[in-house]
Amino acid sequence: MTNFLAILIQALGPGAMLGLLALGLVLVYRSTGVLNLAHGAQAALGGYIYWDLSSNAGLPGLLALLIAVLASGVVGVLIQVLVMRPLRGAAPLTLLIGSIGVLIVIQTGLLLRYGSTPRSAQSVLPNGLIEIFDGQSVGIDRLLLLVIGIVVAAGLWALYSFSLFGSTTSAVAENPVAAATLGHASDRIAVGNWFLGGALAGLAGGLLAPISGLDLVTMNGLIVPALGAALAGGLISFPLTIVGALIIQIAQSISTSYIDFRGVGAASTFVIVVAMLLLRGESIPDRGYVGSRMPTLGTGVLSWRWMTFWAVVAGAIIWVLRPAAWTDAILTSMLIAIVMLSIVVITGYAGQVSLAQFGLAGCGAVFATELTSRADVPFLLVLLIAAVCTVPIGVVLALGAMRMRGASLAVITLAFNVVLFATAFSDGDVKSIPSPTIFGVDFGSLVYPERYLSLVIVVFILLGIAVANLRRSSTGRRLVAVRGNERAAAAIGIRVGRTKAIAFGVASAIAAVGGVLFAFRSPAVTYTSFGSLASIDQLAWTVVGGLGYVAGPLIGMVFATGGVGTQLADVVYDDQFTWLPMIGGLALIVTMVANQDGLSSVIAGQVAHVRALLSRVLPFLRERPAAAAGGAARVRRTAPTPVTGAPAPSRRREGVSSLRLEDVSVSFGGVKAMQHVSLEVTPGTVHGLIGPNGAGKSTLLDVVSGFVPSHTGTVHLGDRRIDRMPVWKRAHEGIGRSFQSLELFPDLTVRDNLRVAAEAGRSDNVLRDLVFPRRTELNVAALDAVRFLQLEDELDQRIDSLSYGRRRIVAIARTLASDADVIMLDEPASGLDEVERQELSAAVRAMADVHGRAVLLIEHDVDLVMATSDVVTALDFGTVIASGAPAHVRSHPEVIASYLGAVSDEEAVIAVTHKTQEV
Ligand code: ADP
Ligand code: MG
Repeated sequence: MTNFLAILIQALGPGAMLGLLALGLVLVYRSTGVLNLAHGAQAALGGYIYWDLSSNAGLPGLLALLIAVLASGVVGVLIQVLVMRPLRGAAPLTLLIGSIGVLIVIQTGLLLRYGSTPRSAQSVLPNGLIEIFDGQSVGIDRLLLLVIGIVVAAGLWALYSFSLFGSTTSAVAENPVAAATLGHASDRIAVGNWFLGGALAGLAGGLLAPISGLDLVTMNGLIVPALGAALAGGLISFPLTIVGALIIQIAQSISTSYIDFRGVGAASTFVIVVAMLLLRGESIPDRGYVGSRMPTLGTGVLSWRWMTFWAVVAGAIIWVLRPAAWTDAILTSMLIAIVMLSIVVITGYAGQVSLAQFGLAGCGAVFATELTSRADVPFLLVLLIAAVCTVPIGVVLALGAMRMRGASLAVITLAFNVVLFATAFSDGDVKSIPSPTIFGVDFGSLVYPERYLSLVIVVFILLGIAVANLRRSSTGRRLVAVRGNERAAAAIGIRVGRTKAIAFGVASAIAAVGGVLFAFRSPAVTYTSFGSLASIDQLAWTVVGGLGYVAGPLIGMVFATGGVGTQLADVVYDDQFTWLPMIGGLALIVTMVANQDGLSSVIAGQVAHVRALLSRVLPFLRERPAAAAGGAARVRRTAPTPVTGAPAPSRRREGVSSLRLEDVSVSFGGVKAMQHVSLEVTPGTVHGLIGPNGAGKSTLLDVVSGFVPSHTGTVHLGDRRIDRMPVWKRAHEGIGRSFQSLELFPDLTVRDNLRVAAEAGRSDNVLRDLVFPRRTELNVAALDAVRFLQLEDELDQRIDSLSYGRRRIVAIARTLASDADVIMLDEPASGLDEVERQELSAAVRAMADVHGRAVLLIEHDVDLVMATSDVVTALDFGTVIASGAPAHVRSHPEVIASYLGAVSDEEAVIAVTHKTQEV
């Protein structure tokens, strides 16, 4: 017991330092929205500066520490000014990847300067032991660290609670929109916070270096527990962050002392971080969530001509020229490229940042060696088994993704890779693996390097085709829909969690194939290369190459150490070239700042441009389709297909049910958004819902579609009670809705936005989609919507190329295309011109009259509602104030009063009409 206490007290000091590190993360995140993955590297930088000044230059310890802290602060400012400021307003994913660029640059900078041998630094704190009770003692320095941690945390708390700087930071943190409008002021706030964040990292690094030893792996490893602590505080709260850090450190110390299991410290950190995140996570972002732009995706249309061309070129190089050094370099690069294909699926298509892909590849390698060491399993079967066995591991990761997104997910996956590294891969022994043979032919790369390389290239091509197929398939559309807008995806019936699990599963299998091929490359296998830093690097290179393109990995693979880039540098330099990782990091930063879509997209654009120029001079080029990036996924727009042709069959149609709300109440804190509302929408009718702003109309839609739970009452669809079902289930039951804020899928074309809505109710078959993606046409409901809303000409345009008004139309069409029994439209007419309003009215009427659906129409335009609806309900302050025939509601005194305050009825009606015309 006393021993236990001693361990606990011993852990408090380092825990406090971890807390400081975490506070730096929180400061930066609060003020700029950047989850700074480079923070651990910044701490390492502080540690090295301190060591260099105190141990090498002989400066007094305290002075060295002070300089290290200030220098780290300045580096923080540089990061803000050079990298983060140009990225202001970008998607969280983009900012996170920007910080990865910084991480790589600092990391390789330190490696180039100080090498990888661990250093030991002298502590500025006095050493010696203090007895605390019955012969148990702790180091004085540990207690002092705790004191320092508490003092600094208290100082920060005071700074942020009482100073103008602190209150402005809070304002910026709580209202990102205000931050955007503040402009320069928010820049200064960001600079201040980045300085403080950097200084905290430097302080923690300088103080921890003597305790934990100074080496890059250890220091960088601190980022995971520090991120865990920061997330425990919700990236907002200072005290909770410190508490989280202490808990993590204590758990780590206790588990390593009591459990004899390799990597148990990392594992316990992981478990605690996951537990904290799961307690905090939200499964669907709430209404305030604004999706930001993400890297462009290729179309997934394969160019067989280009593929054949490159395959022939590659074959000629390998088999005719037989350059030994190049064969080896290309092999290294191609193996990494296969793992990067998995990043295209998970991060490019599905938008989930995974920093564990190389770890998953490592799992594949482990399965391969374990299998072959136990039984004589043929190579191809090993490949298959390893891929299949890695899928569940990826799916477990996806379970995390279901409750969290973006930054938290990146942390979880990173932590997962760290755990794998500390446990399954930590065994430094060399394992042996037999030579790969296929149908008796030996592909062993020692004897037949050309054969093995050709095999790897063929595997890459096959997987590349599968990944491109996925992009064009219904599963792929779902992935892209989830990436673009989880709320809207759920509302049309996509099971968001399952979709993410599918993406993780496919990506894991691809990564595992890469890992198996890594393992078979040489008869002697070690697992230690499958570290988390490699996973981070590979994400970086994929982004540089183009996250959304199958060609992305082919470009990104150049940066792999020992690969094509290294070989190229060797040819040019003749000397060992160690700067390649640095170039990779800088390339990532430049990519993020200049063109986030990556080089594939740039090349595609350039090739199209050159071709357009040439075709003016050379007429024979004119008729052929515009060529784009080399490789499998060049960008080509498919010729617009007409909307005629055999439509896909409609889903259920007979027996449309009516929607019934009974006694539904909702409150948000003190706001009573809905009070005892009852309402019925019957098939074949349009039910108008009017009321002033804040009356609770959108809340009613949220209750019916499942985004907001009701406190009392029931919601029925026909005789089925739906108010306890998840969002997607209600969509399958037949509830369709539009959103006031549109919530389209920005990366999909209009056609695909409609298609994804029409397909959402069908079961998915991923394997078929990887091999043979089926073309589905628009269903009857979608075709009708397209016809009524005159969308024929825009079907093949991407959403972000449309005007706001047209996007509104698409949002309506998507709701109609979902083929739901009940269609709920939230202020569809706002922002539409008169002609479009007429079209809208006709389309809505047709939904009820021709298709017999139940339509609930929320609208501010009273004329439109009255002209279109069969029944109108008026809400005010969450209560139904009138319901009945349009004419009845229009002349109802309370309705008039709620729109205008008490005036004479006639004036009110006139005013209502005028008011709505202004909107
Ligand atoms: P309407 O669509 O009729 O304009 P809403 O349904 O959007 O009105 O809002 C009704 C009331 O509920 C408003 O007072 C609004 O501020 C409040 N409200 C809506 N959503 C939330 C939420 N997520 N959290 C807190 N209050 C909310
Ligand atoms: Mg509303």
